[in-house]
Amino acid sequence: MAEQVKCARCGERREGLGYAPFPNEVGRRVGAEICGQCWKEWLQRQNMIINHYGLDLMNEDAQTFLFDNMKAFFFGGEAPTAQIDTSKEGTVKW
Ligand SMILES: [Zn+2]
Repeated sequence: MAEQVKCARCGERREGLGYAPFPNEVGRRVGAEICGQCWKEWLQRQNMIINHYGLDLMNEDAQTFLFDNMKAFFFGGEAPTAQIDTSKEGTVKW
């Protein structure tokens, strides 16, 4: 069973992920500081972003864009708007 974390996003003390979802510093932070509930919310948001912008995840720019959005989602700060295809921007509230 995963340890409880004080979630950096929602501020609640809940069960965390218990693992780093990415093999880097941000992944480690998500694993240690984000609750399972917020992680699920992000997965839904991620799908919305992918569909909204029509991201091709084989594309490195698309991966970076999604990753930057994830950092903003969990840890605050400016969510990047599409550098990828700005013509599709505008209907999603971050
Ligand atoms: Zn949370």
